[in-house]
Amino acid sequence: MVFHGPGDLRREELPVPAPGPGELVLRIDAALTCGTDVKTLRRGHPVMIPRVPTVFGHEFAGTVRAVGAGVRAFREGDRVVAANSAPCGACPSCRGGRANLCEDLLFVNGAYGEFIALPPRLVATNVVPLAPALPARRAAFAEPLACALGGVARARVEAGQTVVVLGAGPLGCLLGMVAAAQGARVLLVGKAGWRLDRVRQLGIGECLDATKTGSVVAEIRARTGGRGAEVTIDATGRPEVWEEAVEAVARGGRVVFFGGCAPGTAIRLETRRTHYEELTLLGAFHHTPELIRRAVGLMAAGTLVPDGLISHRMPLEEVGEALELMARGEALKVLVEP
Ligand SMILES: [Zn+2]
Ligand SMILES: [Zn+2]
Repeated sequence: MVFHGPGDLRREELPVPAPGPGELVLRIDAALTCGTDVKTLRRGHPVMIPRVPTVFGHEFAGTVRAVGAGVRAFREGDRVVAANSAPCGACPSCRGGRANLCEDLLFVNGAYGEFIALPPRLVATNVVPLAPALPARRAAFAEPLACALGGVARARVEAGQTVVVLGAGPLGCLLGMVAAAQGARVLLVGKAGWRLDRVRQLGIGECLDATKTGSVVAEIRARTGGRGAEVTIDATGRPEVWEEAVEAVARGGRVVFFGGCAPGTAIRLETRRTHYEELTLLGAFHHTPELIRRAVGLMAAGTLVPDGLISHRMPLEEVGEALELMARGEALKVLVEP
């Protein structure tokens, strides 16, 4: 599936790639749709898709089909998951231990296809072998789960704390699952409809229907003894919800801005509370090779099993329909198996 620009996704026949030096070619066993793909299809993506046309999709696991010269860590037939990016390892952010902020992050797309070629830097840093018991469809969650692990780590969540996640999409759910696994009480805020009903059934945490209350903030305060939550996380990428996240946090609390908003947007910040209540406001972006490995390890160990977030299964030809389903809030994640 080739992305030619906003609204223009085409099915095309391309030659099976041959691996150059340091590269791997995978046969894709499982790919997952992601809200980022929906957003990208609508308006493009300045960071992940710097130029078009390009192969599309970024959450996948597969089997090594061909190994380029000089690659020693993998062999044909190995089952692996690859992240969708590789840091440079040399810039100040990388050397400072924050590879997610790499100034030369190399992005890789092409999950919605039968084969994908992985560039040398990705092969060297961000391809992880899979234990036999870890199915590809679960392993393909490595990338979004690594993002969620990073977001929750930013908030330094402790057992017994209340974590409010605003947004009940797949990443909101993963954030909730990670926080719950760390012993937090989780409150997921979503909007009435198919998706929130489905999320309720998954039992990740308490669910709050934003359409059934006059004020989400008042409802969160009511459910936290009037104090607000120790941690609030925005997983919607909407400026007005970022503001709610700040308003609903407790004294001394931490707010994580996990959802990326449209370029040029801004929020209003109440200076008095931010100062006198020592609020901590944190951005959270992307993942690191270490977080990808942690994500794979947690799924292999069965500590985090995100399978329930797969709501549909569709063939490669129907990726466009799958993304429309996502856009309408009628799917959580669609499993695409070529
Ligand atoms: Zn994603
Ligand atoms: Zn770097």
